[in-house]
This record gives sequence, structure tokens and C-alpha cells, in this order.
Amino acid sequence: MEEIKKAENRHKTSISLVEAIPSEVDANSKISIKAKISCAFACSLQGDKIKIINFQGEEITEVELELADGSDNEIVELMVQAPSMPGEHTWKIVYPTQQKEDTLHEESSVELSFKVRPHQISLSVWGIPSPVNKDEKFKIKIGAKCLAGCSLAGLPFVILDDNNIQVADGKLGENVLPQTEGMYWTEQDLRAPADEALHKWVVQSLTSELECPHQTNTENFSFHTAKPPEHTVTIEVTSKEDHTPLKDAYIFLGLHRAVTDEQGKATLSVPGGNLKMYISKNDYVTIEKDLEVVGDATVKIELEFSPVL
Ligand SMILES: [Zn+2]
Ligand SMILES: [Zn+2]
Repeated sequence: MEEIKKAENRHKTSISLVEAIPSEVDANSKISIKAKISCAFACSLQGDKIKIINFQGEEITEVELELADGSDNEIVELMVQAPSMPGEHTWKIVYPTQQKEDTLHEESSVELSFKVRPHQISLSVWGIPSPVNKDEKFKIKIGAKCLAGCSLAGLPFVILDDNNIQVADGKLGENVLPQTEGMYWTEQDLRAPADEALHKWVVQSLTSELECPHQTNTENFSFHTAKPPEHTVTIEVTSKEDHTPLKDAYIFLGLHRAVTDEQGKATLSVPGGNLKMYISKNDYVTIEKDLEVVGDATVKIELEFSPVL
């Protein structure tokens, strides 16, 4: 107070945001705030202090103004860390009352509001066998990535079945999957249901153990359960016109699929029974028929050329 009385000149100051900050920011991310501070009498405010305080009055940061080019107002960039708590936040950028020699610069401030959103996790499931042998163990691969780049090493997850009943739990590994950016992953053992059906299961990430808030995400995956293969069926595909082998023909036999090789051949392991067979290739007429599989067999198929003009 004593110092304030001694000041011969009292100057008003003003502070404003140069650029609006994004209305939504990620928890714990870096935010750049640009503010302009000036004195009504165009004094240099070089070396003066600026601070940011939160709505509880806690100081987030304090910086000293650095004179860029001798202009009469100062633009300052403050790099600060966003709060970890999701929701609406209001901060105040404050130029506190400061005195240099006999001139006192009065306090000014500006508020800024923004919303903190929890980090998003992107989940992936791959490597699901097709079909899955019923009532047997199978493996899938599960990966997760924080879109804000956090480590998800050891992230716990659960797997829920068609009826939302937990059938497994696990944790992601400690390492990032090679050739990905920040995808933590693991291989998970599962037990297939004993029926023959299409199943839709869900992986759910459990994010409560992470240091900053993350949205708990889910990813669906589906698979068919079927009888385990008992027989080997080799399919040989040739052209009806000249009997040459046709490579890259797609074969669907029951729930199994294959593509023919250079010799026009594909081998599938399938359960016995009456199976639907589809054989298709670009520029050829698709064949669709039932195949009764009672043992190992070789089936010869001729496709008719029919280019699409
Ligand atoms: Zn001034
Ligand atoms: Zn994160």
C-alpha cells in the first residue's frame, strides 16, 4: 500500500485474448493462450508479470512479459496444461497491479472458458478365426490407442458375450504393436460357445486406473461357431472355354473361404454335411450350388467367361 501511495501516475491497463482458444480441449493437453496487454498511456510493460488463475483462485502459471520489438503493447503466449478434470472450466488471465518507479499500472484481467473432454480410446479387435470351432479355445488380438497419446500399457479390459455376461478379462501388454503409433495390444484366450451360431461379443476398456480421465470405450466383434473341420476338400477351378486353371477365384464353402492358386486350386478343411458353395471370379459367371461333404474330396469346377463390358 505504501508503494501505491508514492506513485505519481496511475495508468489503466487492458488485457484481451488475441485468439480464441478451442472450446473443447483434451484432459492434460497443452493449450496455447495468446493475450495482448497494454497500458492506456502506451508504456512498455517489459518485464511485468502476467498470471493465469483458475476459478478457485489457484495460480496455474506466471510469466514475465518480454519485449518483442519495442511496440507499445505486449503479446504474450502462455503454454499451459489443461486440467485433468472433465467439464467446464473458467480461467482468468490477470495483469496484477505493478509499479515501476513512480508509475503504477492497475490490475486488469480477462476470463476464458473451455470444456475439458476425457481422452478417447480407440479399440480394435483382429485375428478372429473364421469360423471358430464350437466349444473350443480360440484366440483374438485386442489393441487400444489413446488418441491423445497416453501409454495404455497394462490397460485392463473385459469381454462380454451376446447376453452382456462377462466371459473373460485381460490386460494389454507393455509394448506398442510394431508399425503402429501408440497401439498397445495383447492376445486373448477365449472359449467358444457350444452352439453353431453367429455371436456378437464386446470388448470394453476399463479406464479408471489411468492417471487422467479417459472415456471407457467398447468395440464389438463377431464370429460364427461351427463344428470343427473333419474333411479336406480341394477345389480345382478351370475355364470352361479352354480348360486352363483359373487363379484368384473366390471360394466360399459353408463358413470357410479360400482363393485359388496358380494351379487354380484351393484346399479347405470343412465339417461334413451339406454345405453351400459359391465360386466367383471377375469376368466369369458365379457358380452357386450345394455340396454334400462326406469325406475328403476333390471337386472340379468350370467357370464360364462372361466379361462385363
Ligand atoms: Zn503506463
Ligand atoms: Zn490419454
